[in-house]
Amino acid sequence: MALHIVEEANRCLGCRHPLCREGCPVHTPIPEVIAMFKNRDLESAGATLFDNNPMSVICAVVCNHSNQCEGHCIQGKKGMSIHFSAIESYISESYLERNTQKIAISKAAPNGHSAAIIGSGPAGIVVAIKLALAGCEVTIFEQKPRIGGVLEYGIPDFRLPNRYVENYRELLVALGVKMRTATTIGGALKIDDLLRDGYDAVFVGTGAWRARTLGIKGQARGNVYFGIDYLVNPGSCDVGETVAVIGVGNVAMDVARTALRRGAHQVTLYSNWGGVSASSDEVELAELDGADIEYGLSVESVNDRGPLFRKSVLDEAGKFVGLGDEEIQKDCDTTIFCVSQVPKNKLLLTTKGLEATDAGTLKVDKNSMTTVDGVFAAGDVVTGPKTVVHAVEGAKKAAEAMLRYMHIVSA
Ligand SMILES: Cc1cc2nc3c(=O)[nH]c(=O)nc-3n(C[C@H](O)[C@H](O)[C@H](O)COP(=O)(O)OP(=O)(O)OC[C@H]3O[C@@H](n4cnc5c(N)ncnc54)[C@H](O)[C@@H]3O)c2cc1C
Ligand code: SF4
Repeated sequence: MALHIVEEANRCLGCRHPLCREGCPVHTPIPEVIAMFKNRDLESAGATLFDNNPMSVICAVVCNHSNQCEGHCIQGKKGMSIHFSAIESYISESYLERNTQKIAISKAAPNGHSAAIIGSGPAGIVVAIKLALAGCEVTIFEQKPRIGGVLEYGIPDFRLPNRYVENYRELLVALGVKMRTATTIGGALKIDDLLRDGYDAVFVGTGAWRARTLGIKGQARGNVYFGIDYLVNPGSCDVGETVAVIGVGNVAMDVARTALRRGAHQVTLYSNWGGVSASSDEVELAELDGADIEYGLSVESVNDRGPLFRKSVLDEAGKFVGLGDEEIQKDCDTTIFCVSQVPKNKLLLTTKGLEATDAGTLKVDKNSMTTVDGVFAAGDVVTGPKTVVHAVEGAKKAAEAMLRYMHIVSA
């Protein structure tokens, strides 16, 4: 590993106009970090990565690098891109593990302001870290028993071991962030209660946790699950030996691989067109694990045998253009739907003045403020289901806007 990443770093050209950086949604200063690494200055390299993206250690593992930094690297045009994710992983992991106390000590003196964070996924964690470092008193409210959001309850452990979230929990504790887990805002406590109790600003990072349904017959049957619910605690769901997964995105690949690792013998993913929406790496790994993919089948309903499909009509490029006449019945123990997610509407129903777009995401202005004064939002609840690095991008912007709103930094 060490030799591999040193060789990778040595291949970097240190471009003056680095395309890798342009390809990264948070514009990681890749050539600078690689130069520090080559100079054996791991502390500066780690600090630079953490400052730009507190989730660097996670992004190094779960980002779609071939579409982002590595996919843009100039060396890739000539042969092989610099494998920056491996370098980033090495630097960030050791930096976070070794520097928790040092980061915490570097926080500014208390500024007398306090903020409430609703949701502890990547967006909530990044805002909590940024505000705590600026000297704010921060409290996180999280409805689940543990923090982490999708990192803890979505992405399977075999892709992202739980120790990563544990490192962030330790950092938040060291920073003095209070974590009220098992507490749903929009239930007994509402956003108005947070404002009444003296929080100067509130951040909403509640993600997109309601499975999108297709509104077809059979989705409420006992032999059906939604992928996002299944992944929260797969051990509690008896899916049997044969599983049909409806959908071919990244969540569907995680569901298929989880089911296979938990004893299913036959897992088939169904695409209603001629391709897949998951990243090529994820598809390859799902196939390696033993999943099959069938194309051009549109689910119509689910009965006691399993899903009933109608053959799709596809154009030459494999795009869906309509439904054919032929019906195809598949037999399986369980059908799991993975056709995207939308935000839950608990906060909308319980917060006067909080508005959503037609897609059900929270409306925010250019300063990441929702339609309620002092209440900010970012991450999947604003963008709809996206990625960790996009949640970080939005959270950084929201944290800066919250600091301006509280007059901790000037506008
Ligand atoms: C199965 C799966 C696999 C994925 N794989 C990848 C991947 O490989 N790479 C990648 O970049 N992205 C991946 N993503 C997407 C990525 O994880 C999300 O885009 C990201 O986690 C969004 O962060 P967030 O902080 O906005 O929301 P979340 O991570 O969803 O966190 C929201 C948190 O808010 C809490 N919450 C919700 N409502 C309330 C409430 N009313 N009160 C209190 N707490 C509340 C939730 O319990 C949760 O902990 C994946 C998503 C899924 C579902
Ligand atoms: S584009 Fe590739 S070679 Fe150039 S700085 Fe980035 S990683 Fe190095």
